[in-house]
Amino acid sequence: MNIFLKGHEYRYAAEQALMSFFPDQRPEYPDGAEPEGNCVILSLDGARAAAELRLDGRTARGEAEADGPVPENGTERDRLLQKLVKLAFFRAAVELRGSAPPWGALTGVRPVKLAAKYMRQTGLGPAETAEYMSEEYCVSPGRAELCARAAEYSLKADAELEEKDVLLYVGIPFCPSRCSYCSFVSSSVERSLALIGDYVEALLREISAAGRLAAKYGMNVAAVYFGGGTPTTLSPESLDRLMGELADAFDLSRCREYTVEAGRPDTVTEEKLETLRRRGAGRISINPQTMNDRVLAAIGRRHTAGDVLTAFALAREHFLGDINMDLIAGLPGDGPDSFRRSLDTVLGLGPENVTVHTLTMKRSSRLSAEGGGIPEGEAAAEMLGYAYSVLPSAGFSPYYLYRQKFSVGGFENTGWCLRGHESLYNIGMMEELRSVIALGAGGATKLVHPGSGKIDRVFNKKYPYEYIASSGCVPELEKLLG
Ligand code: SF4
Repeated sequence: MNIFLKGHEYRYAAEQALMSFFPDQRPEYPDGAEPEGNCVILSLDGARAAAELRLDGRTARGEAEADGPVPENGTERDRLLQKLVKLAFFRAAVELRGSAPPWGALTGVRPVKLAAKYMRQTGLGPAETAEYMSEEYCVSPGRAELCARAAEYSLKADAELEEKDVLLYVGIPFCPSRCSYCSFVSSSVERSLALIGDYVEALLREISAAGRLAAKYGMNVAAVYFGGGTPTTLSPESLDRLMGELADAFDLSRCREYTVEAGRPDTVTEEKLETLRRRGAGRISINPQTMNDRVLAAIGRRHTAGDVLTAFALAREHFLGDINMDLIAGLPGDGPDSFRRSLDTVLGLGPENVTVHTLTMKRSSRLSAEGGGIPEGEAAAEMLGYAYSVLPSAGFSPYYLYRQKFSVGGFENTGWCLRGHESLYNIGMMEELRSVIALGAGGATKLVHPGSGKIDRVFNKKYPYEYIASSGCVPELEKLLG
């Protein structure tokens, strides 16, 4: 869609708003042309923003005005003016479409950050914060409440974390097969599995170097998270070596949480579970995504719902820590009834955490290329509606959430926990409460500077073959710290 900006250059705000309402449209900025055809004109005049949206012969307008004075300059000024531009766009789009997206005019990945900031500044509770989110950003009451409740967990985690605490992520980008919606692991799973040996050696080196760096700068590891990919794709021996090296390299005496994702049930064995437990892991993830065998086959998971039940029983017997289970609303071929059955089955197992994702159409996924059978936004809304009513009744609270681009219906991913079983890593990482040191291929290290909120980033090479030949994040990190 053509975008015309008048009186400002807030392209990012315009594009985020465009993506919320029209995710299949790409932004274009025609140089010097007069607006015609499908387009949006976004104007800013002092403290007043206006949007004119023209689509398929129809035109709608929206406006937004600041309540108080606009700061002369700086980040706060930009933030306020961008908010006005997005609100004006939002109002025009709602008028044209006759319905509002669940997150209103909020476009960011981390809405909980905003709610937590408001709570911190005002000292108000979740009910007032939810009201603020609805009034200021037109967030639906249900989403505003979800967000405010998760913000309480964010404030609690922030208060419990110490200044020198960091979160440690170790990436294992291997899986037994590639899910059709996945954009994380390389498309040739078989070829990449041949690199596991060299990958483990490279990761051992990076763990060791990062441990020395942490000791030098007095960092304290508050939580460890092995993610991926599926870390339990590795052999028990490789897991043992990596976790052993991590325990030698870092002082884990004040580590409060240790998670290893065992997402694919077809990778879970008694020996691996006992290795994880012996090496100090206290939380794992066994992720069905759905308990419908037909849907599992359609998304390329190569395991059955029965395998999930077996893996869960094995974990209860040999692991003893917390178990998280992921489900996805909106999978191809799935529907509200089938989703309901999946969630009921999962809850019947009694996990400590349940994470409900919404399918996202990642551009590099097979599903994006092939399409087909994706439920409409309304069906995904029905699935989430069921989850959000049944989970609280089963004693779960929403403790962290985030949004992703191109999610079905513009919905979110939400982690739910039984009381006292929230994941510190998930909260701290998503809310950017402390630095995350991310080791392994695709690792995105974030150095959070408390106070200013400034974040420096260091990115590891994405693919295993590139990572193996690289020196990891530590040299770059050392420059930033030094
Ligand atoms: S298990 Fe996760 S990381 Fe592995 S292929 Fe499936 S979606 Fe991708």
